Amino acid sequence: MTTRETIKHTTTPDGLPPLRDVIERYELRAKKSLGQNFLLDLNLTRKIARACGDLRDTTVVEIGPGPGGLTRALLIEGARHVIAVERDERCLPALEEISQRYPGQLDVHAGDALETDWNAIIGSHRPVTIAANLPYGIASLLLAGWLETEPWPPWFNRMVLMFQREVAERIVAEPGSKAYGRLSVLAQWRTEARIVITLPPEAFTPAPKVSSAVVEFIPRQTPSPACTSKSLARVTAAAFGQRRKMLRQSLKQLTPMPELLLREAGLDPQERAERLTVEDFARLALIMDRADKTTT
Ligand code: SAM
Repeated sequence: MTTRETIKHTTTPDGLPPLRDVIERYELRAKKSLGQNFLLDLNLTRKIARACGDLRDTTVVEIGPGPGGLTRALLIEGARHVIAVERDERCLPALEEISQRYPGQLDVHAGDALETDWNAIIGSHRPVTIAANLPYGIASLLLAGWLETEPWPPWFNRMVLMFQREVAERIVAEPGSKAYGRLSVLAQWRTEARIVITLPPEAFTPAPKVSSAVVEFIPRQTPSPACTSKSLARVTAAAFGQRRKMLRQSLKQLTPMPELLLREAGLDPQERAERLTVEDFARLALIMDRADKTTT
C-alpha cells in the first residue's frame, strides 16, 4: 500500500483514530452479556446522528457509547453537548480521548442505564434528545421507562433509538397486523413513532443474527384521550396477554364486568385486542381511571 493510500484509510473527520484501531488498542473484545454489537463505520453513525435533526443547540443523552462510534458522529454533526452512560468500564479510556478532543462537550457517566436518575444527570440541559444503539437485552425495558415518564411532556423532545428490526416493527405496527401489540399502543399513545433507518446484520461488529432498525419517537404534547400511563399499561397487559380471546374474556382480570366497561367505551365485547386502535385502548384506560377515582 502506498503512503497516500495509508493516509486515506486512516484519516477520520475528527482526527481521532479509526474505531477499529481504538478497539484494538483498548482490547475491547465485544461482550455478548452487554449486548455489544459495535458500529464502526462513521458514515453510518453520522447518518444516525443526522436522523436526530439539527443538533447545533441540542444536548444528547446517549446510552451505551461503547468505543464511541455514535458519540463521535453526534459531535461531528454538531451536537452542543453529549451526556453518555456506559456500563462497561473498559470503554472509559476511549471515551476520555473523545472528551479531550471536544473539551467541555462530553460527559461520561460510568453506570447502569437501568438505574440512572435521568433528571439528575441532565441537570439544566433540557429538553434533550436521546440517541442510542441500544443493548438489545434491555432495549424494551429502557423504552418502557422513558414512555412512562411522569410528568408528561417529558424531559426529552426526541428519541432516536436502534432496536432489533422485529421490535422496531412492533413499535410502529398498526391495528389488525400481526406485530401490533402492547408495545405499539404504549409507544404510539404518547409519541409519534416511525422507522427511519434499517440496517443489515453486517453493519455491526460482531454481526448479530438479526437485522436492526432505528426508530424516531417524537413525544406528543397532550396524548389523547388523557388516561394515566399506569391504566393503559394494565389494560394492554390484560388484553394482549390473551390476544386470541374476546375482550369480554381477557379483561375479566381487570373488572368483574368487562362488558360494561367495553360498552361504556363504545366497543364490541366480542372484539379482540389486535383490532382496537390506540385511542380505543386509551378510552378504556380513562374509564378505569375515573372508576378508580370514585372508589378511592
Ligand atoms: N454505541 C456503540 C456503537 O454504536 O457502536 C455501542 C452500542 S452496543 C449495541 C451497546 C452498548 O451499551 C455497549 O457499549 C454496552 O457496553 C452498553 N451497555 C450494555 N448494558 C448497559 C447498561 N445497562 N447501561 C449502560 N450501558 C450499557
